[in-house]
Amino acid sequence: MPLGVCELCPRRCAAGRFSPGGVRGWCGAADVPRVFRWGPHFGEEPPLVEGGGSGCVFFSRCTMKCLYCQNSPWSWKGGGEDKTIPELTAIFRELAVKDKCANWNLVSPTPYLPFIREAVAPLIAEGIRLPFVWNSSGYERVETLEEYGDLCDWALFDLRYSRNETAIAASAAPNYVEASRAAVKWAWSKKRLIVRILVLPGHADEAIENLAWLATEVSNEVAVSVMAQYTPAYKGLETPPFDRPVTKEEYESVVEAASDFGFGNGWIQGYEASDPKLALLGENMPRGHGSVR
Ligand code: SF4
Repeated sequence: MPLGVCELCPRRCAAGRFSPGGVRGWCGAADVPRVFRWGPHFGEEPPLVEGGGSGCVFFSRCTMKCLYCQNSPWSWKGGGEDKTIPELTAIFRELAVKDKCANWNLVSPTPYLPFIREAVAPLIAEGIRLPFVWNSSGYERVETLEEYGDLCDWALFDLRYSRNETAIAASAAPNYVEASRAAVKWAWSKKRLIVRILVLPGHADEAIENLAWLATEVSNEVAVSVMAQYTPAYKGLETPPFDRPVTKEEYESVVEAASDFGFGNGWIQGYEASDPKLALLGENMPRGHGSVR
């Protein structure tokens, strides 16, 4: 994929981000990596947090615009700091050497993949390399996953919507269904994969449709992480049905479907695990280095 214009995500906005005096992409990303926070995260799925926790780097901006985003200070509003490549290298070094994290967990990395590869190269040359977790909404291009597959030892992808009209209305993400499903299929054939199913209020049927698709078109041996933690945030507070938590009945219908479809690997949050304080962690998290619990 030639650099110059950006077509890293399925939106393919073709912004001239990588040319001299480049412009910002639809996602807001510019010609330098921008990071909000980094540090060991102990709240990710169990295989990712063994030892020193998962070494998260929360990149600013996002290829989707979810009305209910819990990370709006940096996903929508671009909070964080521009980093030079050596500064980004130092972040990855700190996570590996000082924090002794189990992996490098790239949170919403897609607009910055070329910079990430450049930043980790000197560390890898020194023999410092942690497994990479590609942690995203699942709104990815297979061509990009192929090209940057060296940055993906674990794929931690959402399957958020089963209908494109919901993906457009709630996340401004055209063709989300095709893109996320192709990304999941790609990851299952090559990588360690965890699929996150965040149950959304008023849209539990879409979570069930995604589980049905996963069981029939991929495998019910995929590790799924079914999440009850949705808490209204940001523009979701004023946009029904995203202005309310998921009901117990909605959540239980998804849990029951996961069992009916034979999913045996993964994690099912208890309904009571939906702690608003935890779910809104992103809204209150300071920028810079620090752990996330
Ligand atoms: S990653 Fe950003 S700049 Fe690149 S194609 Fe997607 S929206 Fe455009």
